Amino acid sequence: MNLQADQAKLKVLIVDDDSHFCKILSISLNAEGFQTSSADSAVKAYEKLKHDPAMRAGAPADLVLLDYYLPDLPGSELCRKFKADPELQDIPIIIMTGSSDQKHLKEAFDAGAVDYLTKPFQRVELLARISSALRLKTKIDQQKEYLRELSETARRLYKENRSLEKLSILDSLTGLHNRRYFDVTLNKEFQRARRNGATLSLLMIDIDAFKAYNDHYGHPAGDECLKRIAGVFRKIVNRSNDLVARYGGEEFAIILPDTPLTGATGVAEALRREVATLRIHHGVSRISEVVTISVGVAAMAPQAGDQPNNLITAADQALYQSKAAGRNQVTQAHPVSSMHNASA
Ligand code: GH3
Ligand code: MG
Ligand code: MG
Repeated sequence: MNLQADQAKLKVLIVDDDSHFCKILSISLNAEGFQTSSADSAVKAYEKLKHDPAMRAGAPADLVLLDYYLPDLPGSELCRKFKADPELQDIPIIIMTGSSDQKHLKEAFDAGAVDYLTKPFQRVELLARISSALRLKTKIDQQKEYLRELSETARRLYKENRSLEKLSILDSLTGLHNRRYFDVTLNKEFQRARRNGATLSLLMIDIDAFKAYNDHYGHPAGDECLKRIAGVFRKIVNRSNDLVARYGGEEFAIILPDTPLTGATGVAEALRREVATLRIHHGVSRISEVVTISVGVAAMAPQAGDQPNNLITAADQALYQSKAAGRNQVTQAHPVSSMHNASA
């Protein structure tokens, strides 16, 4: 058997307190191209693997030949110590025993040894055992690498999916939910309110004289204004089931589940006041010297046959009234469909 071609430069640590035996073993292994090092006690073996620069270049060692009887510690204990150390646990260990020490083999295997040699052994047996331990180690390394790549891929896919999911429900400019998500949520909340006999409110909001703002200050300033107003909505509307969405260009829609018309109108007023308090200067508005919003509020305790669109239309009409009445104000919707139940 000649391991020279593929095993050259592999490092073997021989742990045995018989220095003569170590020397002979080293000569044999060096002749096969292995790099060897020896230690005559458990403590020295551990030190060598952890701190000897010659052993550490690349990896601490590729294989350990470990005598069961050491002056300071049984071989099985040292084996266990290696297996508990993340840096050393993958190094294959072959235990060497005397022929009368067979009873200790189970202990050594339990402690993590991959194979054993009974002293005295022939060179051919030594090389065969080393070769098979190294083959096993290569297989295990490949499998570990494969598992690592697999879990890395799974982690990356999970992250990509999450960000795709987020992108598909969020508006990229304001970070609020987008129209698509609004539609889905309104449907869901509408059905839920109908099942529970609860009241669902909807605010439709539109920025006043925003075309003039854009024309005067430019589109980037307009975008900045949209972001700041979105920030106000996010700050004020904060119950866990509430949903703030960018409905279209400078229009926003807010769903307030389990909220009657009076409560929703209070929220709308708070939003209107807070947006004005931002004091975003609007030099070309005929309504105010700062940017303002108009709001339409509708509420509904949906009954069988009612549609989410009824609620949207009601809130839209109320918004239109706010605009018609001079802007920068909140208007409650006229009752539609089952909305006579809703103002409680
Ligand atoms: P009103 O008081 O009646 O609401 O008047 P308005 O000017 O706000 O309404 P109009 O619907 O005529 O104009 C809406 C403008 O909003 C058009 C466009 O200039 C601006 N706008 C819409 N979407 C965006 C956007 O994403 N970014 C920016 N910067 N401006 C937008
Ligand atoms: Mg508009
Ligand atoms: Mg507008």
